[in-house]
Amino acid sequence: MKAAVLHAPYDIRVEELPDPQIAEPTDAIIRIAAACVCGSDLWPYRGIQGVDRPTPMGHEYCGVVEEVGREVRTIKPGQCVIGSFAASDNTCARTVQ
Ligand SMILES: [Zn+2]
Repeated sequence: MKAAVLHAPYDIRVEELPDPQIAEPTDAIIRIAAACVCGSDLWPYRGIQGVDRPTPMGHEYCGVVEEVGREVRTIKPGQCVIGSFAASDNTCARTVQ
């Protein structure tokens, strides 16, 4: 899959990353239709916050559910979903591969 990856301030690269896998029973895999830059991405982009390692960007998105882990109860494959801080229940850490 293609991903926008922040390597250092003002250094964003489009790279090929491995396809996602269900690792935890609460995971979901979403086929992204559109994603955007979040305000929290601008801190490391501008160098105000450090960049420890290459970090995929675009955690605000909409797309279609492809697969869910066995403990996921509220969404199922084929549904259109929106991922945003406003809809987060904070049970999952920000995912970074
Ligand atoms: Zn965000």
